Amino acid sequence: MRRVHRPALPDTAQSYLDRRRPATTAANVEGAWKTARQTQSMRTVLGVLQKMAGARERCMYCVDSHGSDIEHFRPKSAYPMHAFVWSNMLLCCAECGRFKGDRFPLSPTGQPSLVDPSAEDPWDHLDFDPDTGNLTARYNIASGTPSAKGECTVQVLQLDRREAMAEGYRRTFLRLAACVRHALSADAIDAESLTATLLQADDHGLMAWCFGPVSARLQPFMDLRRKAPDVWKACKTAAAQWRAQD
Ligand SMILES: [Zn+2]
Repeated sequence: MRRVHRPALPDTAQSYLDRRRPATTAANVEGAWKTARQTQSMRTVLGVLQKMAGARERCMYCVDSHGSDIEHFRPKSAYPMHAFVWSNMLLCCAECGRFKGDRFPLSPTGQPSLVDPSAEDPWDHLDFDPDTGNLTARYNIASGTPSAKGECTVQVLQLDRREAMAEGYRRTFLRLAACVRHALSADAIDAESLTATLLQADDHGLMAWCFGPVSARLQPFMDLRRKAPDVWKACKTAAAQWRAQD
């Protein structure tokens, strides 16, 4: 999963959402949404979400499949007042849409228990297993327990049991590792060229994971950190600043 950055909508599309919001209730939300999806304003909204997701328009949850439709982070059935709220909309693939459905678990304090990739860095809650390609909950050293939000997100979206997705993540990881190994074999490493190559190869948002805390113990990222700390830092910064529009 990767952090995505949400721009403001064009005025006409935002005004359309503002007009639809007050009149939307539990009783009419399904029909209202179906009608709205035929409008130019909602096609504009979908277009902005596709741009946010990057050139390949990947699903914002699994980042593996094509994001085909507008997903409501808070399900519109239970939260009709959020059906036309821009910050509640993500781009999602059919499979993630099926797994999530109307699920929206809350923490004991009433906060969402799912990662919202447009509001937070998913890697604060998720971890990656390079051997299997699965996503798992991130272990929180301070509390000595896995992230509750990470566990819930993995469980709801089944991020630890999707073979094709895991294979996609594993291939991307191997590509990123190969880029770093290749750079390390040169006499001097060009930071700009390496970060550009890595960003190009990073189909799954794994760069932020590879250059996170794990790089202190995982090869070849460990070697890069030790031998060329400035280049390592440039890669880490580029990963954190990823924007689809770049
Ligand atoms: Zn998906």
